[in-house]
Amino acid sequence: MLSSNLSKLESWTSNVNDLDNLKGFVKEMIQQTRLYQKLVDNMPDMVTRFDKELRHIYVNPVLEKMTDRKVSEVLGKTWKEMGYPPEMYEPLIPYFQTAFETGEKVEYESEYEANHGIKYYYNILVPELGEDGTVETVLALTRDITEQRQSEERFYKAFHANPSMMVIVSIEDEMVVDASESFAQALGVSRNEIIGQVVTEIGLWTKEAEREACIAEFRNRGRLQSYEMHYLAKSDEPHTALVSSDIIVLGGKPCRMYVLTDITQNKMLEAEMARLDRLNVVGEMAASIGHEIRNPLTSVRGFLQLLQMKKEYAPDSEQFNLMIEELDRANAIISEFLTLARNKRIQLKPTFLNAVIRRIIPLLMADAIREGKEIKTQFKNVPKVLVDEDEIKQCIMNLVRNAIEAVSVKGVVIISTDWDGQNSVRISVKDDGPGIPPAVYQKLGTPFVTTKDNGTGLGLAVCYQIAERNNAKIEVKTSSKGTVFSIRFKAITSDGQM
Ligand code: ADP
Ligand code: MG
Repeated sequence: MLSSNLSKLESWTSNVNDLDNLKGFVKEMIQQTRLYQKLVDNMPDMVTRFDKELRHIYVNPVLEKMTDRKVSEVLGKTWKEMGYPPEMYEPLIPYFQTAFETGEKVEYESEYEANHGIKYYYNILVPELGEDGTVETVLALTRDITEQRQSEERFYKAFHANPSMMVIVSIEDEMVVDASESFAQALGVSRNEIIGQVVTEIGLWTKEAEREACIAEFRNRGRLQSYEMHYLAKSDEPHTALVSSDIIVLGGKPCRMYVLTDITQNKMLEAEMARLDRLNVVGEMAASIGHEIRNPLTSVRGFLQLLQMKKEYAPDSEQFNLMIEELDRANAIISEFLTLARNKRIQLKPTFLNAVIRRIIPLLMADAIREGKEIKTQFKNVPKVLVDEDEIKQCIMNLVRNAIEAVSVKGVVIISTDWDGQNSVRISVKDDGPGIPPAVYQKLGTPFVTTKDNGTGLGLAVCYQIAERNNAKIEVKTSSKGTVFSIRFKAITSDGQM
């Protein structure tokens, strides 16, 4: 239509020979209009012009790609006259009404159920004012955003089903835009509780310095890759994660997507390996030098006792006692150290753990009462395990000793046993003391690590060695409310005993 008008205009100007200027001007206008026409015909968006009755008075050829209609079929018609169902066009009418009434641009998204699934469109209505200032026609630009929508949907599916913890944060206002189910689970909250919150307030970062370092890294390199960070899981347990982050655009907004991988288990395994390694070295050392020290000590002690009995040393008797006491203390330390020896002989026998604990309970109670503390027991039915009874006694005594030392006066230590009904039997020693200091926790079981004035720092090292030799595993849970040491054994029968 437009181009036939232009042709008419062209032939008209060629007749008006005397008005050269006008001719040139009109020619230029024709050229520009043709260029504009070409642009509109070839743009990827559908361009339609509607009159007040919503008749199509112009549409570019994109219509034929976007729908199964021909341009010639739709010109001069409304959707209804084209045979479209009301549920398709009725929802769109209010947008047009607004455009005609206000004369202002209107943007909206629409969808249409085509043969091959739902199509999504982004629309802009541009009202065109007539000479009297009222809107006579509306230009509609329609962009097919189906692919973009589908890829966003695919992204969301992958995002929510992903076992990695993921969170998307708007760069502009630091708000959490979305979080994966696994992310929410790890923090022990529901997704709705964190979406819309400022990211600094959801308790993800436990160390402000790490957060700042992360952001600095982001600024410098534009992204983050496997950055180590610490966070608190729902159980208030400290966790370590590797965080990677990149910028994505969601709903037109630039966002940071953080992907966290929990490496707490790997870290623990690493620490465990390192500790075993240290214990091996110490164990070998203990075996080779322990006896070399103890034998001379025993003879020195013997001679001291002999000398003490002599009359001329009677006035110095107190000093002799002191010397002997000191030697005994040294000997006790060495004895404990010797149990670290790797080649120590042990006898593994089927044993009921409750019975073992009952045999040493009087000893432990006496120890506790002397310091005004209390020991309670909670026995469950547990089956036999294959252990060296003496070693297990030693291990329990060391753990209980530490627990007694950790609690304040009137504090309670609970020794309990339990069984999962299958193959795992456990002894736990629980105290309500102040917890293990982080610096010690990292080196737990390393010989000579102690926070006590008279401590040897050998008790736990011995426990870990004993656990190793008896195919058991020591697990530790500690917080400011107390500590639980558990020794986990494999059941060898399926009948329990109290
Ligand atoms: P020691 O008791 O001679 O210090 P251990 O190897 O038994 O040596 O324990 C090492 C350290 O571990 C202790 O000094 C203490 O700091 C810490 N520890 C062990 N058990 C507990 C506990 N139940 N509560 C708090 N801290 C503990
Ligand atoms: Mg100890």
